[in-house]
Amino acid sequence: MPIRKRLFIGLMVASFFALIGLALLGWYLVKYQNYPWSKVLIGLLGITFLAVTALIAFGIGGMILSIWQDRAIPSVYRWTRMAVNVLFPMALVIARFFGISPDRLKSSFIEVSNQLVRLRKVTVAPERLMILGPHCLQKTTCPHKITLDIHNCKRCGACPVHDLIELTDRYGVNLTIVSGGTWARKAILEKRPQAIVAIACERDLTSGIQDVDFLPVLGILNDRPEGPCCNTLVNMSRLEQAVRYFLYDERADWINSGVIGTVLEKSALPERRVEVS
Ligand code: SF4
Repeated sequence: MPIRKRLFIGLMVASFFALIGLALLGWYLVKYQNYPWSKVLIGLLGITFLAVTALIAFGIGGMILSIWQDRAIPSVYRWTRMAVNVLFPMALVIARFFGISPDRLKSSFIEVSNQLVRLRKVTVAPERLMILGPHCLQKTTCPHKITLDIHNCKRCGACPVHDLIELTDRYGVNLTIVSGGTWARKAILEKRPQAIVAIACERDLTSGIQDVDFLPVLGILNDRPEGPCCNTLVNMSRLEQAVRYFLYDERADWINSGVIGTVLEKSALPERRVEVS
């Protein structure tokens, strides 16, 4: 059997035996609960469980308080991330059980994540800001390959890539168009941005935001009038507001209210940029 398959199957079997082990431990503790060793073990397990639960509650509580009071609470970031990583898969299962589509839950997660990033008042220099977009923004009939080099685009205006290049030129930020999550991670490692404005569908944005939770990411859902992964669109006004938030700490209304403004003129750019915080 090839090594890669062996690894996966081996870990699956190990996980299965770990579950059986936990079940046996539970049975042992219930059956012999009056024995001194059992009491110690029950105590230790109880303390561990309470500690993990308390940290998750701390993370979730901090997140709710942060959103409610409209202010950042840096000391709870780590625990909020942990709580989300632990509870999100469970939330997906519960959502499915109640007939809520995973995309709806993911879209809600993205809004909360955007709100938390916005509260942190992160400002970066233009060259450290990356706009990360999916290749499905490019017109399917376009013969020019832009995932290798964005400058291959002839800027004919037939797809959003033209507008994206114009916007990134105007603000001096980086634009990267990728063909998948692996490329996205590679680009982030190579270009080392300090903040990201990511355009993608619910699924890719959710996994991407969780993958790079060490970086502030504002997520913008793409529009898919022709279905998934085909000639997708992006609201340029939202994108520009997200860029301006990272460059000038301008609080974008759309994150809270869904209000979409108009694309701003170059003359409206602030003269002085806020430096990296
Ligand atoms: S703007 Fe035109 S040239 Fe550029 S990627 Fe889109 S279709 Fe191709």
